[in-house]
Amino acid sequence: MQVHERYLTRMVRREGLPVHDRQADFDAEETTCPACMTTFQTAGTSRCPECGLNFG
Ligand SMILES: [Zn+2]
Repeated sequence: MQVHERYLTRMVRREGLPVHDRQADFDAEETTCPACMTTFQTAGTSRCPECGLNFG
């Protein structure tokens, strides 16, 4: 049972939860913050208004 569980965990990690891209698309009018999944307007900002993540 424990071995099976470990195998599953490994599979989940490999198939992978980082489903969405880590980069926000600032060429688009709106983008989604990869950290908190908030959608916001890209015009005039390089930070997520929700969590403050700086996209530089
Ligand atoms: Zn955010």
